[in-house]
Amino acid sequence: MEFLQPPSLAEALAAKAANPDALPIAGGTDVMVELNFARRRPPILLDLTRVPELAGWSLQDGRLRLGAAVTYAELTGERDGRSPVAHGLGRLLPGLAMAARTVGSPQIRNRGTIGGNLGSASPAGDCHPSLLAAGAEIEVASSRGARLIPIDGFFTGVKRSALAPDELITAIWITRPSGPEQFAKIGTRNAMVIAVAAFGLALHPGRRSVGTGIGSAAPTPVRAREAEIFLAAALEEASLWDTGGALKESVVTEFGTLVGAASRPIDDVRGTAAYRRHALVVLARRTLAWAWTDYQRSGYQRSGHSGPTGSAGTVAEEG
Ligand SMILES: Cc1cc2nc3c(=O)[nH]c(=O)nc-3n(C[C@H](O)[C@H](O)[C@H](O)COP(=O)(O)OP(=O)(O)OC[C@H]3O[C@@H](n4cnc5c(N)ncnc54)[C@H](O)[C@@H]3O)c2cc1C
Repeated sequence: MEFLQPPSLAEALAAKAANPDALPIAGGTDVMVELNFARRRPPILLDLTRVPELAGWSLQDGRLRLGAAVTYAELTGERDGRSPVAHGLGRLLPGLAMAARTVGSPQIRNRGTIGGNLGSASPAGDCHPSLLAAGAEIEVASSRGARLIPIDGFFTGVKRSALAPDELITAIWITRPSGPEQFAKIGTRNAMVIAVAAFGLALHPGRRSVGTGIGSAAPTPVRAREAEIFLAAALEEASLWDTGGALKESVVTEFGTLVGAASRPIDDVRGTAAYRRHALVVLARRTLAWAWTDYQRSGYQRSGHSGPTGSAGTVAEEG
């Protein structure tokens, strides 16, 4: 097996163009498992760990650009390139940070990357529900040029994505949240486990909309669109975006039911389809209750939809 280690993005893209069957490796936490179990025998490994353009993150005009090589430890703020006090990304993208905190062990969180999670495109990838809820865009590049793929169009089948054979994932773009985010997952135990069902929720008071993401309960990660439309309409109708008043129990119940209905789970060793759907209904209701409490407590509605930590887009930060 040949091993290529390009020192720049241009050289990585050239190598991928010349060898479309080369397998990219970032943290290696999925790739090494596949190699060790002989599930895959690529002719070439394309090591991306020396490509500086894939590392780090920045905030540009209210949008966060996360390099594909950003690790879970960086997402949680456990390992922040800048300051241990600011908690960098963990503070800016709370939903993704919650999801990252549930991933593997400290070792996996130190090595595993957001780009690798997307590259594997597993229906159980823990970043995906939060990226769907946030309406992220995936920046991919080849020597032909770069393009942005909306996260809704990124997952094309079980462990399949819209990435062309000569393309690499270079970054993830996310509009800085204008409201609270939540993530919850159910597994067969509390840590080091593939999700049996997972759910991500984002309230977007700035655009008066709701984002959702379902994991491990369909062939690909999916949104619960009807649930999003229902909840946004219910919040609008009762002027709750403005008042932050109490959410009716019937709204929470119906939201959960619609999320469950959006899933297409299967029976497998980790859980039955019926259990997964039921778990999602519960996760959706719980995360909505938590997010709404956050909304009421944090004063999003009184701060002109800028969130509790300041106005989006005014802070120049990077890590
Ligand atoms: C013990 C253990 C526990 C785990 N727990 C979890 C968990 O709780 N939740 C979870 O979601 N995952 C979990 N995983 C899976 C894995 O850690 C994640 O999917 C991780 O995000 C993979 O990132 P990586 O950088 O290690 O990817 P790699 O293994 O390097 O690559 C993964 C895939 O992405 C491709 N790839 C990587 N970078 C790029 C790029 N820039 N462009 C194009 N393709 C690319 C590779 O070719 C490969 O197909 C676990 C794995 C292990 C071994």
